[in-house]
Amino acid sequence: MTAIAVVAGPLTFSWSAFALFIVMSGVTLCFGHSVGMHRRLIHASFDCPLWVEHVCVYLGTLVGMAGPIGMIHLHDHRDWAQRQPACHRYSRHEAGFWRDGWWQLHCRLVLTHPPKFQLEPRLANDRFYAFVERTWMWQQLPWALLFYAIGGWPWVVWGVCVRVAVSVTGHWLIGHFAHRKGEQTWVVDGAAAQGYNVRFAGFISMGEAFHNNHHAYPSSAKMGLLPGQPDLGWLLIRALVACGLARNVNTPANLPERAGLRRLTPRPEHMLHPATLTPACASVDNLSHASYRDVSQ
Ligand SMILES: [Zn+2]
Ligand SMILES: [Zn+2]
Repeated sequence: MTAIAVVAGPLTFSWSAFALFIVMSGVTLCFGHSVGMHRRLIHASFDCPLWVEHVCVYLGTLVGMAGPIGMIHLHDHRDWAQRQPACHRYSRHEAGFWRDGWWQLHCRLVLTHPPKFQLEPRLANDRFYAFVERTWMWQQLPWALLFYAIGGWPWVVWGVCVRVAVSVTGHWLIGHFAHRKGEQTWVVDGAAAQGYNVRFAGFISMGEAFHNNHHAYPSSAKMGLLPGQPDLGWLLIRALVACGLARNVNTPANLPERAGLRRLTPRPEHMLHPATLTPACASVDNLSHASYRDVSQ
């Protein structure tokens, strides 16, 4: 995809193809990757009808990284590794820029004693997710045919190839910088990797680049927690709530603080004190849909 994007992208550029690239990237990254895959499927940070979840997760699959089960596996494996007292340089993005890029985009970490991956029955028995998981790479095809019928090869190149290449590479870039250095409001004591807020990427990442906030409150549907942190994914969830399509939304105001969380800067007034939390909230230190057991001990 990246090779086609680099070679054919400039040759087929048109403003309509570029507009398609912007719209499709925005929809698949915001509805799909950020809200559907990450905030709903992986962290269950809000509730919604199953059809809404299916539509959003399908759009997330179009980003081109993996199917729904593969994305849960990738995310939770990394999350589990980063919460250990020590973890491999791969999982904490500790290698240099080019080496980390090669590792993350072209290699896979195989542990000698991997934790056990156990998908919750609701997802394991979902036939739609099983179908999308089997066919996730082919899901670009119907869109490519549609784009070809409407706008010819420029729409195929920019609506599929350039979009997938930019989304996948951008995901790595944000993951790389968000685990190395930057703004930090919280630290999680005892965790091998810390998250950092990558301010310049906050808007285009749909809020995902505020990764220090995400390490502090993984189950929060809101990632841009402080003033000046634009979070388009959060705005979408608020719109879904307004339409009656989302409810039971988690934010730091109704979540318990995770073990080891320590704030480095004074707490702003709009964030409630944990003493006001309701006991019904799930522990954010546990993964929502998959559980890991360290079998190395
Ligand atoms: Zn992280
Ligand atoms: Zn996460």
